[in-house]
Amino acid sequence: MHFKPRNWPGIITALVILLVAGGLLFSFTRNNSVTATVSNLNLRNGPGLTYKTTYKIKRNSRLTILGEKNNWYHVRDSQNHFGWVASWLVDHPGNLKKATSLSEATVVLDPGHGGSDSGALSIDQKHDEKTYTLAMAKQVAKQLRARGTHVIMTRDNDKSVSLADRPALANTNQASAFISFHFDSSPTNNLASGTTTYYYHRDTSYKLAEDINDQMGDLPLTNRGIKYGDFEVIRDNSRPSLLLEMGYINTKQDFKYIHSATYQKQVATRVVKGLSAYFSSQS
Ligand SMILES: [Zn+2]
Repeated sequence: MHFKPRNWPGIITALVILLVAGGLLFSFTRNNSVTATVSNLNLRNGPGLTYKTTYKIKRNSRLTILGEKNNWYHVRDSQNHFGWVASWLVDHPGNLKKATSLSEATVVLDPGHGGSDSGALSIDQKHDEKTYTLAMAKQVAKQLRARGTHVIMTRDNDKSVSLADRPALANTNQASAFISFHFDSSPTNNLASGTTTYYYHRDTSYKLAEDINDQMGDLPLTNRGIKYGDFEVIRDNSRPSLLLEMGYINTKQDFKYIHSATYQKQVATRVVKGLSAYFSSQS
């Protein structure tokens, strides 16, 4: 038997190359992984909502990004399921730095309805909900900006904005909080009164609901408390998000407040205080 002398320098060079390549691949896959921020995240067979769901991914599962197209990620999970997920329903671990004060925060404010969608009507049928949701959100924006908050409005005039575009704005901007403003309406006039704080995702949004709702006790309208609400703008939202119903527009005593600038300012002050308390609690 004849053994060729081993090519030690060659073997060592090959090993070093393998190690470096492996290390690069490892760090690449680590930097390109995301976690699902919603339970039962749809894994689809193409980059869009029209593609078929092939698998449901559990919340907080780690996914490796293989590609990207139109705000969708081509991913693989730890059990080798391949498919596409919406980028706004996953988080990059590096982006998870939480705001601990108003001045560090990005807040998306969503004045309900707008444009061709007037929302609910006042008793005399002359006043649209969309007018007051905008006035209130603008008041909150003004007070937040004065405290150094980065404010993004889903609309700042009387225009139509789709329901899907509203939470998408919070998701793509990794907003620290999202608040949608509305006014309630009961089946018959003067049937109900008061304010309600709605959340959808308990894990991401309940603490925010508590901190905001804690501030609503001394408003002239009854605080009806915190409730679960299945509204698209908070359901399709991966960020801490609420929908506030700040009175019944078709109840005489509530409308008296809803259309007053004083009440709008009172609500705004309390929303800002609640947000401030919430961000402080994140430190
Ligand atoms: Zn509404």
